[in-house]
Amino acid sequence: MYEPVIGLEIHLAMKTKSKMFCACPADSFGQEANSSTCPVCLGLPGSLPTINYEAIEKALMFSLALNCQVPDITQFHRKNYYYPDSPYNYQISQFDKPVGEHGFIDLSNGRKIGITRCHVENDAGRSVHPAYANYSLVDLNRAGAPLIEMVTEPDLRDPEDAREFLQKVRAIAQALGVSDANPEEGKMRADVNVSVRLPGEPFGTKVEVKNLNSFKSVQRSLEHEIKRQSRILEDGGSIKQATLGWDEGGQKTYLMRTKEEAADYRYFPEPDLPPMQIGQNWLEAIKAKTPELPDLKLARYLAAGIREYDAQILAFDHQLASFLDEVLKHYSEDAQAVANWLNGDITGYLNAEAKPLQTTSLSPEALAKLLKLIDTNTISGKIAKDILPELMQGADPEKLIAERGLSQVTDSSEIEALIESVLAENPELVERVKANPKAINALLGQVMKASKGKANPEIVRSALSKKLAI
Ligand SMILES: [Zn+2]
Repeated sequence: MYEPVIGLEIHLAMKTKSKMFCACPADSFGQEANSSTCPVCLGLPGSLPTINYEAIEKALMFSLALNCQVPDITQFHRKNYYYPDSPYNYQISQFDKPVGEHGFIDLSNGRKIGITRCHVENDAGRSVHPAYANYSLVDLNRAGAPLIEMVTEPDLRDPEDAREFLQKVRAIAQALGVSDANPEEGKMRADVNVSVRLPGEPFGTKVEVKNLNSFKSVQRSLEHEIKRQSRILEDGGSIKQATLGWDEGGQKTYLMRTKEEAADYRYFPEPDLPPMQIGQNWLEAIKAKTPELPDLKLARYLAAGIREYDAQILAFDHQLASFLDEVLKHYSEDAQAVANWLNGDITGYLNAEAKPLQTTSLSPEALAKLLKLIDTNTISGKIAKDILPELMQGADPEKLIAERGLSQVTDSSEIEALIESVLAENPELVERVKANPKAINALLGQVMKASKGKANPEIVRSALSKKLAI
């Protein structure tokens, strides 16, 4: 049985106000092509880059969160290669003095995944290939936008682990505000390296699968490659080093190019940018303002009484975690109940509507109110579930309940009257329950129905038992 050896290379589009080396906006999503550009990011002669302090600070914060060692001096290098949508003919990247090295992330199964390095560089523009034309267009709005590239050690042994690793990276980047890390918008892209071997043997020949833009495609492409490579080796063949693409429709890899010798990028120190001294003071200041990391959130949620399974989901989903924290400010009685709603009905609603939480109008206060209304027996859990879709659209639960008269009936004389009429209408059922008290649920159901779901079931149950002397 062959064992896979997996490494990842992840690019994160950084969330900064301006680009890496000029004052143009870093995020020009939806802008007219080439409108967010200036002489610097267009690479015009005579223009000079300046380092974006915010980007370096966020990259250092991210490196520290990944347990990286941060060198005393960080420096930019020119990585020389030609690319049609990169106006410089080189990329300003980092070489031997990146912002972080030798970090790690712990997976939930206890496996430690090494992070070789984290470095900062600028993004390229975008080529557009109009279907109607035999030419291509170049949009340089993205050119010069800041990127973090992180490379892992070949420590992953399972496609599922690769997926968890990506989820953790995304959660950390989002919690720190370093990147939206949203694969759907191209703000998190991954390349995977994968080979197979018999356990204990040296590493096999690896292939690289490029430009995977969802966690699912990372996992699927790995599963596909592991099967493909294992089959070739079982048949006595050998793996050829190659760069592959992923065919989403066909769910299979395809050959992009077989690898020649490693590219020589002729790195040399960027002459227009001085090396940066980082210093302990700056690092301490960064540590002091680092927001709570997902691992600490997880510990806090467990301590608040949320079950492990739910706490894991919530701590590593930035949107859900932020929402949960807001709800807990207004309702701390039962954190598990909040978790149940978030991971249950609310996630169900979001999946059905294919919407992220932040695009709905559900407010943390409204969910807190709803939970209090259940706790005080003002409404039943069933009514709460029924009105959730309206809460997701911004309704206030207290108003809604008052307007519709959805309050639970707890008034015993009202319940008494309901019971009287149900008993009068169902004499046979009454006899059956008297003979077999376990059948009381059938009567209870009738009373609940008569109350249109609003009677408090506990009060009904005890009133019924008393009435029938069972
Ligand atoms: Zn610019």
